[in-house]
Parts: sequence; C-alpha cells; structure tokens
Amino acid sequence: MLAKKNIAIGGISTECSSYSPLFQNKEDFRTVREQDLLDLVDFPFSEHNINVSPLFFKKSVPGGPIEREYFDQVKNQFIEEINALGKLDGILLLMHGAMYVEGIEDPEGDWISSVRLAAGPDCIISLSYDLHGQITDKIIKNIDAFAAFKTAPHIDVKETYRRSASMLVSAINENYRPIVLWSSIPVLVSGEMSSTFVEPCKTIYENLDQYNNENGILDCNLLVGYVWADTQRATASSVVTCTNEIMGAKLCKKIAANYWNSRKDLKSDMQTGSIDDALLWLKSDFSIVADSGDNPTAGGVGDRVDVLEAILKHSHIDSLFAGIASKSAYDELKIGNEFSLGGTFGGGGPLLKLKADSVYFKNQCAVVSISKTVIVISKIRRPFHNFKDFEELNLKLSDFKILVVKSGYLSPDLQSLSAQSFLALTEGAVNQNLAIIENKHRNKKIYPFQDFDNFIPLVSDGVSLVS
Ligand SMILES: [Zn+2]
Repeated sequence: MLAKKNIAIGGISTECSSYSPLFQNKEDFRTVREQDLLDLVDFPFSEHNINVSPLFFKKSVPGGPIEREYFDQVKNQFIEEINALGKLDGILLLMHGAMYVEGIEDPEGDWISSVRLAAGPDCIISLSYDLHGQITDKIIKNIDAFAAFKTAPHIDVKETYRRSASMLVSAINENYRPIVLWSSIPVLVSGEMSSTFVEPCKTIYENLDQYNNENGILDCNLLVGYVWADTQRATASSVVTCTNEIMGAKLCKKIAANYWNSRKDLKSDMQTGSIDDALLWLKSDFSIVADSGDNPTAGGVGDRVDVLEAILKHSHIDSLFAGIASKSAYDELKIGNEFSLGGTFGGGGPLLKLKADSVYFKNQCAVVSISKTVIVISKIRRPFHNFKDFEELNLKLSDFKILVVKSGYLSPDLQSLSAQSFLALTEGAVNQNLAIIENKHRNKKIYPFQDFDNFIPLVSDGVSLVS
C-alpha cells in the first residue's frame, strides 16, 4: 500500500467594510478547530488515502477593518502550525476574500503568500472562497486550485468546500498540477444587485456548470467582489481552475464578458427606496423591511435607529425590530425602563431616548415593548435572519404586521415566507446608495462609479498575461 499523503486545513474568513468605525480583533472571531473543522469541511479524505491535520479556521460576523496587530498575530500562528507539521502534500485554505487591514493592500494575498513560503513550492494549495471576495495576482500565483460559492445568498458553502477538497485530492493522488487563471472585470455592485437567484446572475452562474464539462476544465467561477472596501484591488473577477490553459483562458474571458455585458441589468430584486418610501409602501399584510445600510452580515455596525425613529411615529402598527445592537441599552434596561438607543458602537445616526412598557431578557437580548412596537436589543452585534433566532426569544412573527431586519437581500428563511419586502436604502457602513459612498482608492475605472463601454478582458496566471 502507498504511503499516506498529508494535508492541512484552515484559514480565516470575514468581510470588512472600510466605512465602518468598528475595528475587529480577538473578541470578534470564533475559532473552529480539530474535529469541528473536519466536520465543517465534511470530506472523506481517508477514503482517498489522505491524512488530514486540522489547523484552525477563524470566522467573524462581517464588520470593520481587522486590527493590524491581531491580523499579524493570527497569520504568524497559522504559519507556525504549518511549519510544525513538516512536509505537506497539500493545504486546503478556507478564506472569504474581503478582509481589510490598514496598511496591507491585499490581506488574503499576504496570508496566502506566507502559506506558500512555509509550505514550499511543491505543496498543492487549494483555495475555497466567497463570491464576494477579491482576487489579485498575488493570490493566484500562490495557489493551484480555486473554488468559490456559486450562490448568493450562500446555500452552497459545504458544496464549495467539497469542490476545493476534491480538486486538491485529485491533484495529489493523480500527481498533476492544475493551473488557475483569472480576469479582472471592472464592475462592482452590492450583493443585493447580484443575487444568483434572479437574472441576470441566475443564468450567468448556471452557465458555469456547463463550462465545467469542457475538456481540461476543473472549476469555473465568477466573483462579484466586495463594494464596501475602498481599496485598489476592489473588482469583480472570473477565475478558472484548469489543466488546459487555452480552454481555461477562453472561458475566463467568456465569463468576464458575460458579466460585463449584463452590468446594466444588475439591480435589486426587492423594491428599494428611502425610509419614507418604505413607510408609504407598507401594506396591511405582513411585510418585511430590510434596513440595508446597517446590515451586520455585510459589515454594517448594526446599532443605528433611523428606521426605528421613523416607525415609532406610526406606533399603531404592530412592528418587530430584530435587532439593534446596544450593550449600554441592555445594561440600562437591567436596572430600569428608561434607555437610550442608537450609535452605541459608533455606527452613527439618531439617538433615541425611550421608555419601555415592558421588557424581558433572553439569549443576551433585551426584548422591549413600547406601545405596539417590540424591539430586540442585543448585547453584541449579530443578525436575526433565521427562524431559530426568533423562536429562541419566544417571538412569533405572525403576531406582527411589520418585521424590520438589518439585512440586505433576505435570508433563505425569511424569503421562504414569501412576504412583501422592501429594501430600505439607509445610511450606514454598507450604504447601498453606491453613488454617494466615498471612493478614494479605487483608482481604476469601474462601473458604476464610472460609466464606460470599452472593456476587453485580459487573462492572467498570476505571474503574466496569458491571453
Ligand atoms: Zn458573501
């Protein structure tokens, strides 16, 4: 029997708005290790005669920039753990792709090139990514295989891990080295404008599966990138893992051209408008309003009360706010019924002085009633996007006419309600009104920041242009 091959798994995943005042550090990241990390990836490596060493996987709720010192410390720890394993045949890296660290233009490129340096030139590195991630030459030249989510909202996370793991295993066991190619596409829109469940992205992403059937092609991807980090690298991209460079380059260009040609059709599938528009739109049936500029799952702070202020003026409607992050309001409610809400974590916006009619505490949340409005105040920044989040607080959505969530496109659970929904273009660290967000560092021409017609995709292997 052949000697077992050795691989390691690990990485770091978050999305950082450069417009958020709130830095991320140790407190924000959860660490997945050992059996939990193997369960997360859930790939039968042992059936392929491969021995796996789980390193660690750091993950946070998206937020602001990562503190430089913390980033360096975690990266160094990751590299030390790789060094301690000795010779590795492969590494499966789990990354998101939209980190922002002050003073480092390309944090993922920095991390991945350090991994390459530690693992040596012969180690096969397969990268698993979010389709809201950023790509650079530095990333591509240091990896051998790439797979990103093909659904947004993301329902193919495990499937994506499996695609990256499967390419890694084949390359190791069949002793070949795949090629990764990419094209930058000068389009940068929000996730809400590029949902894969509606056109034009639905068809563009479905086509990726067809391209994967071509000879010499292993995995085709389209990344829409991340719009709320004002960085030079910010761009959409096509990425193709292949064994046939000519076919790979052809498809890389084709995916880039398809997305570019559809750019003017990229728009939210929900009705959008200001908070006032949202109030005028409200129907008598159960409706959902997404407070999109302060959405914590995209990097928003989650403590703004702009929508609450507007809806409290219509206090005759049974409405549920889930949730607003405020440790100070939570602490105030522990001792009395008067509290202040808004801007606690630096998200800005109005400050409200309020008085609770009643309050109960559960799961690190204060659930407050004021007339017909119920507000969930969470001690920490967090989303309330799943049915479980409401059930845990003994809240029944059917008791309300309006649900206000801090969200962009609705989560699969909320979408399954088929309720009327409105995307409020509110202020915050992830403002969907792209025309007004600060744009100092995106120094290449990029749609919709600039409108132009001439774009010819170029294909790079990370070292030089191949087509
Ligand atoms: Zn994403």
